[in-house]
Amino acid sequence: MQEFLEAIVAGASGDDIAAISMPESYRAAYVLRDEIEMFAGVPSADKDPRKSLHVNEVAVPQLAPDEAYVAVMASSINFNTVWTSIFEPIPTFAFLAKLGRESVYGARHDLPYHVVGSDASGVVIRTGPGVHNFRPGDRVVIHCNYVDDQDPAAHEDSMKAANQRIWGFESNFGGLADFTVVKANQLMPKPAHLSWEEAAVNALCNSTAYRMIVSKNGAGMLQDQSVLIWGATGGLGAYAVQHVLNGGGVPIGVVSSPEKVELLRRMGVDAVLDRRMQAYRFWKDEHTQDESEWRRFGKDIRALIGEDPDIVFEHIGRQTMGASVFVAKRGGTVVTCAATSGYMIEYDNRHLWMKLKTIKGSHFANYREAWTANDLLVKGKVVPALSCVYPLDQVGEAAYQVHHNLHEGKIGVLCLAPHEGMGIDDPGFREQVGEDRLTLFRRERA
Ligand code: NAP
Repeated sequence: MQEFLEAIVAGASGDDIAAISMPESYRAAYVLRDEIEMFAGVPSADKDPRKSLHVNEVAVPQLAPDEAYVAVMASSINFNTVWTSIFEPIPTFAFLAKLGRESVYGARHDLPYHVVGSDASGVVIRTGPGVHNFRPGDRVVIHCNYVDDQDPAAHEDSMKAANQRIWGFESNFGGLADFTVVKANQLMPKPAHLSWEEAAVNALCNSTAYRMIVSKNGAGMLQDQSVLIWGATGGLGAYAVQHVLNGGGVPIGVVSSPEKVELLRRMGVDAVLDRRMQAYRFWKDEHTQDESEWRRFGKDIRALIGEDPDIVFEHIGRQTMGASVFVAKRGGTVVTCAATSGYMIEYDNRHLWMKLKTIKGSHFANYREAWTANDLLVKGKVVPALSCVYPLDQVGEAAYQVHHNLHEGKIGVLCLAPHEGMGIDDPGFREQVGEDRLTLFRRERA
């Protein structure tokens, strides 16, 4: 891939890039099918991505007619890479086997290794004959909605397609690598004012938060509505906060340290709760929740904003869902896309039906939503939540940081890009957006 990197850095034309011959292999981060039992009997928290994620050469797969090859300059860690690397809740090889049975091109994915990663920025280096909106040389970011558009169900909302998948999690050839192969309908323009690593970290979390908060497929937030955001400086939360503020809503951010409280204040959030300082104990023991603690939490929210939240932005799951359902306003919505602390959820249904609340499931975003969310980045209305950057060779450590909640915002990973700060094509617009906003989350890596 070195020749591609040199051409990209030299600003070579698309035709020149397309003329470079494809290598047979590329450097990638992957887990191995042979190792799916390596953490058997180990508690979740002790399953160590540094042991299961390997970085080495793998073969370049064949290109399908509706796909593009992309030279990946940078990528990011998402929590799904943590799930894959600890083989929870199930080893992702089951997804690859299912995809492998679907079609001739699907069969390429069913391999003894799974290249992970669901975000990337880079340059298109080849396109299949069915691709017409992008061409070699285009600077792109990649969203992770992997959909077969021959499924009729995909045409109302592609997230409802029967075979909808998350690229690099439920498919192979993910973004934590120097190269990837993706469907052309995963490509979006790279924001020209961002570096490769800044551009790489947004698509998954920004699009997911956009759908959950703004889209009619999610909570469809209106002006002046209040939104309780769990993990408000985490990957999802950092974008949720921006969408709420942009849409004229009132965010209430929940975080777990004074540093994160300060970060939220700098983002423009007035209503902030430090859950660690407040020491909420929603569960008395493993099986019993404590309604008095839900009430205390609700009171704290009212003390901050004078009312119950219209919307609760949920992804924590078992630990918080009871509290989330309780504190949502009468007629309000709890929108959820995950369950990091456990997916067998318990809440008091009386608080749901008597107060006419809704729990709404949400998952990533369709192409339209991802494109709109990306457009907000292109226009500088949303900024990356990039905190620190690791080289691809240290991807295990980067995933470890996220697994143990030692990070803020997003962790970027340099793939082909040899160092940070490359790829800024519009420094004038960058200045207009403001270096302060663009680097709000930045810190030294641990
Ligand atoms: P993240 O960067 O780790 O952020 C999660 C935040 O949750 C942390 O910053 C932490 O904030 C908070 N948190 C963790 N444990 C908590 C607990 N027990 N109680 C309260 N707060 C807790 O992860 P992320 O990228 O935001 O992703 C979060 C989850 O959503 C993951 O499970 C991921 O797989 C899922 N996800 C799903 C989709 C989808 O499309 N369905 C998309 C993106 C992510 P504090 O410690 O500061 O409170």
